[in-house]
Amino acid sequence: MESALNNNNKITVREQIPEEFRWDIKALYIKEEAWQLDYLKVEELLSQLPEIKDGFTKDVGSLLNCLELKDRITELLQKVYIYAHMRKDEDNRNNYYQSLFNQASALLVKAEEGFSFLKPGILSLEYDQLQEWLQDNDQIKVYRHYLEDIYRKKEHILSPDEERIMARAGDMAQAFEHSFELLSYADLKFPKIKDEKGVSIPLTHSNFITLLRSKDREFRKKVFKRYFKEYEQHHNIYAALLTGNIKKDHFYSSLRNYQGSLNAALFKDNIPVQVYTNLLSQVHQNIGLLHNYIHQKCDYLNLKKINMYDMYVPLSEDKFTMGYTEAQAILLESLKPLGEMYLSIVKKGFKERWVDVYENTGKTSGAYSTGSYRSKPYILMNYQDTLEDVYTLAHEFGHSVHSYLINKTQPIIYSDVSIFLAEIASTTNELLLTYCLLKKFDHREERIAILNHFLEQFRTTFFRQAMFAEFELLIHQAQEKGEALTADFFNQKYAELNRFYYGENAIIDREISLEWARIPHFFYNYYVYQYATGFAIATALSRKILKEGTPAVGKYIDFLKRGSSDYPLSILKSTGIDPTNTIYLEDALDVFSELLAQLKSIKEKD
Ligand SMILES: [Zn+2]
Repeated sequence: MESALNNNNKITVREQIPEEFRWDIKALYIKEEAWQLDYLKVEELLSQLPEIKDGFTKDVGSLLNCLELKDRITELLQKVYIYAHMRKDEDNRNNYYQSLFNQASALLVKAEEGFSFLKPGILSLEYDQLQEWLQDNDQIKVYRHYLEDIYRKKEHILSPDEERIMARAGDMAQAFEHSFELLSYADLKFPKIKDEKGVSIPLTHSNFITLLRSKDREFRKKVFKRYFKEYEQHHNIYAALLTGNIKKDHFYSSLRNYQGSLNAALFKDNIPVQVYTNLLSQVHQNIGLLHNYIHQKCDYLNLKKINMYDMYVPLSEDKFTMGYTEAQAILLESLKPLGEMYLSIVKKGFKERWVDVYENTGKTSGAYSTGSYRSKPYILMNYQDTLEDVYTLAHEFGHSVHSYLINKTQPIIYSDVSIFLAEIASTTNELLLTYCLLKKFDHREERIAILNHFLEQFRTTFFRQAMFAEFELLIHQAQEKGEALTADFFNQKYAELNRFYYGENAIIDREISLEWARIPHFFYNYYVYQYATGFAIATALSRKILKEGTPAVGKYIDFLKRGSSDYPLSILKSTGIDPTNTIYLEDALDVFSELLAQLKSIKEKD
């Protein structure tokens, strides 16, 4: 079966999809009674916490006991949670699994609260005492990085009384982001619009970008103008919410004795501020590359200049399609440079049914990779034969193989990955796929589609996120300098940035100056730069892998095994990439420029 769509283009009910295209969820629990038992087991283990909470640092044995209990609870809880989560996502209309999921979510919160004594308790220990235990006791050694990281943050923790006030203010501090979400996703309503064929369709947040890909220029212009009209009518309230949130970041970072909110945000992962400023300075130095790309877009679209509503239109004439079986084969071929061991894990994933391939009624949309410490690293997809879907398969397998290697290598306490590193494994696979596709497909339209896909990824994940990062820095700095933040201020700064990034071949439509208002990430406190750095690191890495072969592959696989057993930059160092300098950014921009040249040469041959 190559598509889950039947002849009438109706979505299939789940039971009609052959088992081989559904994930092997029974490998988690064959019978649901076993889930219930694990659930009760977690509850029982959590009930031991009040007892051990006092005095868990009185000797090394007690500390070890507590940390091991935490690991045990985490392992069981992960399994309980992801099973309920996956079952719910199979069909969101199923009330039984919805309630199982709610139960599991509540248990997660309960566990978090239950362990809230842990960090303050550890910090009450004398550092010298802890070091002595780490020297003398072999079993506690595995927790060294975890414990030392808690101590690293000590100088930014306040007195117990002050911490109590901070904790109580936490709920209020969330009000800005919460209001932003309610305003954007509940209150803001878009009118219906007529599509290219005159059919009335709803305009939503989720179809906005898809509609901007329309080949009908008048239609996408209408979509663009209509969408931002709603934001224009609310831009003062959006500005007030964003300003409140920036003040919140400033409030916490200054009270916790950081030098500004940027330092505070990067300190969490021990990332030097230089990583942030390097990114922005390199993008500035090389912004001409993005301008060239915009120039190419104009050529392909036969436009003198492009408007902001032309930005997402595909450059190829034909649709690129590929069935799932072919996509699996292409994926294996493109990942060959990563060696036999890596390939054998991907094959295992296909054989052992990690992937839930096709759409069915009620299934959660989009795609993700998930799993627990001892489970298969599952993948949810909604495969529909497009080029994007082939890339999504490569992307999610990057995450799943990463988890697989970590779980085989690391103790559970280091089995997660920091956001700074999380997208590297997935993006590396996408880049290897790009090179493979370009080798295999030589028809004009196919090549344009592949190059267009890669260059758009680069534009939206690297340049655009760097622009967001620059905006975020600029507005925080303005607030810290005491400038008045208003809608006009945000609009003006945002328009200026767009003008700088897209250059003179782009018309900066008035509406785009409101785009900041639709980006939820500006409420996440210096989060977006990691998309840009992660993308650049992966691009530089994939180039190294293709150029150097075995030695680079070995280092890459070692990197994938390390989870959170050290700070992100230390883990990266073994691959030869150091984001405190700019070499990796130069390498990534070289790749962009090579593939852009290929796009240009196709047009020149016309
Ligand atoms: Zn991802």
